[in-house]
Amino acid sequence: MGEHEHSIVIDEEKCIGCGICVNYCNVDAICINEGKGVVEVVDLDLCIECHSCQQMCPEQAIKVYPQIDEVLPKL
Ligand code: SF4
Ligand code: SF4
Repeated sequence: MGEHEHSIVIDEEKCIGCGICVNYCNVDAICINEGKGVVEVVDLDLCIECHSCQQMCPEQAIKVYPQIDEVLPKL
């Protein structure tokens, strides 16, 4: 277990617990906390930083860092 270079930030005020992001996560890195009604990280190590969760969230409630524009080469 080393330091993570990436992170997943969930805004629990915005998240409506719809589960869309979970459906688009192919590696089961996130899940819905049924008790709290919001998404949560299961295992950050599983996350491959595909950004699908962020892209598909209708509430802009989940962000994956580094952001895509932070890692793309500057043109
Ligand atoms: S960035 Fe991709 S792999 Fe990581 S939690 Fe989101 S959907 Fe899953
Ligand atoms: S798609 Fe957005 S609103 Fe829906 S559970 Fe995921 S983070 Fe929450």
